[in-house]
Amino acid sequence: RQHSDPLLQLNNINVSFDGFHALTDLSLNIGVGELRCVIGPNGAGKTTLMDVITGKTRPDNGQITYDQDTDLTTLSPVEIARIGIGRKFQKPTVFEALSVFENLEIALKTDKSVWACLRARLDSEQRDRIDDVLKLLRLGAERARPAGLLSHGQKQFLEIGMLLVQEPHLLLLDEPAAGMTDAETDYTAELFRSLAGKHSLMVVEHDMGFVETIADHVTVLHQGQVLAEGSLREVQANEQVIDVYLGR
Ligand code: ADP
Repeated sequence: RQHSDPLLQLNNINVSFDGFHALTDLSLNIGVGELRCVIGPNGAGKTTLMDVITGKTRPDNGQITYDQDTDLTTLSPVEIARIGIGRKFQKPTVFEALSVFENLEIALKTDKSVWACLRARLDSEQRDRIDDVLKLLRLGAERARPAGLLSHGQKQFLEIGMLLVQEPHLLLLDEPAAGMTDAETDYTAELFRSLAGKHSLMVVEHDMGFVETIADHVTVLHQGQVLAEGSLREVQANEQVIDVYLGR
């Protein structure tokens, strides 16, 4: 498939909470292999956008189509995860008492309970997949350490690894660089650029410096609507975007 083919298409999505419109007639496409940043002030609807894609919130109306013909609005969050959409929340949630390797093992076998999963043996393909992810996330030396002893940035990387072992097509990441050191942020940017192409990524981000280093394409949300879309340079030059960010 071509880079420009849409992997995810949201068409005229509306979400309201007790009459309050969190998303209004929102349409957005994410292409195959694309790295998209979604920015916008607090309350713009970024979290709600992730929630409707992952089935956590149902839209009042509108269509969400994945891979040309799958209607996500009819699937449960678990089914949506199984077809290849992985989400990372802002705060890392790892199993602190288990080792880094065991965390990845559990993520790989989401169909089993935690204990059943640790008892079941990994096949060599699964072991290789975990080893590749450990290397990619620079966690090889930490594999036997309890995850609770990792630094905040390493926990963020581990959680990204827990998504990657599931080989998702689309990754949704909420402020992945929050709380990271500069070096970790730089590596996150490098990592995302290397994942794009094979995976599609949608990254919600506040740190404009980080957006600048990663984004192909930026969507600006404001009051539940798409205010602007284009390259970072284009959206930064947009008068409406300047008004929203500078509060003029
Ligand atoms: P962002 O992530 O861009 O900060 P959100 O998607 O969290 O924005 O929120 C968009 C708007 O919808 C906010 O005004 C928020 O208060 C409101 N909202 C989000 N979730 C709910 C909910 N479950 N109930 C009521 N209002 C909500």
